[in-house]
Amino acid sequence: MKHIFKVTGANKALIIAFTAIGTGVVACTPGYVGHPKDVNPILATGYDASVFSKPKHTEHQMNYSYSNPEQVSVRHIDIDWNVMLDSKTIEGSVILSIDKKDFLTNQPLILDSRDLVIRKIEGSSDKITFSPIIYKLGKRDPIKGQAIIIPLQDSTNYIRIKYSTSPTAEGLHWIKSEQSEYSSLFTVACPIHARDFIPLQDTPQVRITYTAKIQSKPEFLVLMSASNNPKSKSSNGYYEFEMNNPIPPYLISLAIGDFKFKQLSNYIGIYANPSYIERGITEFADLNKMMKVAESLYGPYLWSRYDLLILPNTFPAGAMENPSLTFVSPTIITGDKSFVSVIAHELAHSWSGNLVTNATWNDIWLNEGITTYMQNRIVEEVYGKKQAEIEVRLSYEQLLKAYKILAPEDLILNQKFRNPNPDDVFTPVPYNKGFLFIKHLEQLFGRSEIDNFLREYTREFAFKAISTNDFEQYLRKHLLNKNSRLSQRASIKEWLYGTDLPTTFIEPSKRHLIAIGNQAKEWAADEITQIDTAGWRGQQWIYFIDNLPTKLSPNKLEELNKILNIKNSRNALIISKWLTLAIANNYEPAYGSLERYLTIIGKMSLIKPIYEELVKTNEGLKIANHIYNKAKPFYHSLTIREINKVFEKAGKD
Ligand SMILES: [Zn+2]
Repeated sequence: MKHIFKVTGANKALIIAFTAIGTGVVACTPGYVGHPKDVNPILATGYDASVFSKPKHTEHQMNYSYSNPEQVSVRHIDIDWNVMLDSKTIEGSVILSIDKKDFLTNQPLILDSRDLVIRKIEGSSDKITFSPIIYKLGKRDPIKGQAIIIPLQDSTNYIRIKYSTSPTAEGLHWIKSEQSEYSSLFTVACPIHARDFIPLQDTPQVRITYTAKIQSKPEFLVLMSASNNPKSKSSNGYYEFEMNNPIPPYLISLAIGDFKFKQLSNYIGIYANPSYIERGITEFADLNKMMKVAESLYGPYLWSRYDLLILPNTFPAGAMENPSLTFVSPTIITGDKSFVSVIAHELAHSWSGNLVTNATWNDIWLNEGITTYMQNRIVEEVYGKKQAEIEVRLSYEQLLKAYKILAPEDLILNQKFRNPNPDDVFTPVPYNKGFLFIKHLEQLFGRSEIDNFLREYTREFAFKAISTNDFEQYLRKHLLNKNSRLSQRASIKEWLYGTDLPTTFIEPSKRHLIAIGNQAKEWAADEITQIDTAGWRGQQWIYFIDNLPTKLSPNKLEELNKILNIKNSRNALIISKWLTLAIANNYEPAYGSLERYLTIIGKMSLIKPIYEELVKTNEGLKIANHIYNKAKPFYHSLTIREINKVFEKAGKD
């Protein structure tokens, strides 16, 4: 996932409280034991309550999941859904194919769920004849949801669960537009929201294949993170999908909307709303080149097709690496390819993250840090050394900002179960510090050594989940032990388990950005009137804004408005920076566009700084409240949770 940058709140209790509010209805009373109404379940299955023995848990399973894959694991799911776009629910069933690994202890199958209405659970030996099973629901936790504990007979190989989802499920985002009588839909399963729409073992330690039969409305196209997405709408709204590569649950995804498809090459294309498709094709035209580079660096692409799906503005992140179908925010389409490195990042996840997956969310740096390094390698090959070098420096500066905000314990790459909610692990630390760690190894051991190492690492652990410790052992064996002199300076323990950047770390060069920073200061001080913007793209402009003083006169702001060409800008980040600066200086002419921006953009990292600036004054707080009330129905639940925190913090200050 690309950059949902969140700073963990100081008050954990508040985070939990807000999550509980955001989650909405509770489907079942804690401790409720479900009984199918139409048969006597005891007679049907022969089970009684004594089979609910306490399962053994490993550290992995304690990682926001109730599941017990080390005793019983789900390896395949057959999904059969009726997606009801008018009532904002999914009604249907899943058949889970299970592997029992611990025959002696008669362990139940334990699944994760959150706010699902379970109608019936049945077992089968042959996937044809099913018999009802008495199951048990655990106590509901606002973040982890509820365990579903399903006792198994020796002959049980398949479990069928009939259920429906809650209209307020956080993992499902329904968008009602004025153009259609139905809502469109996209899912965000990462990190632990797959359980909002599928009862399953929701831990990245588990890998599953799946098939899906989806009934929707014929007006819309249905897409999944699958290898056989349709190119056009079916006449009856019915679609079948399959994902034959085993994937972790957080990569299961579904999107339903008015999407068109356009091809970039035989196996690369773009899905988008008709109004975005041509802009997407132009912006992401380098995708074929990126794919060639990525394959030459890290080995063959193993996911059949690679398509992008450009989603509505309410998508809360920059992009999400759902296999075969990366979800993309339209805010990264700027007209000048300013943010195409986001696409390089998502493509790189096809190797790091989707092939080699973090075993727990505390190892998230393995997904994001290595991916950000691969992203930078792709950017360098496609857009040149200068662009890549700029991005290394910006990554470092973003990390320095995080160092000023985050608690020391949150600066460690191998995180320590500190976050009550895994939504909060996505800070610049796993991305940028993880990236700089691999970059540090590259500087020590050489470019080709690291390219080879990552290619072999990806091949070795393909379709597996690994921990930081697994990575460290592999690194020692295949890189460090080959050169003990260099390995001394690798500072592995400090990088992986320390808070500070190691003393051996070499600060990335600022040479391509110094002149921009100087111009910002000189222009603000009226020392220059002309700015040399030759060759600038989005990142240079943003660096210019970031290096302006926080206090600017109305005249300077008026001038800046013209320089940035805000009226015609298609760069949502530049507009966000401009609005934040204008609010900080109480520059009223900018306020006219504030409401419009905050009610059409839902990407968290763009709107949160604006709300944070607004709530600093009483007058701003009133404006923020007024706009938020209008915008809230449009925002994704993850965005709402973050903006709620902004208001809560303002209330305490
Ligand atoms: Zn990512």
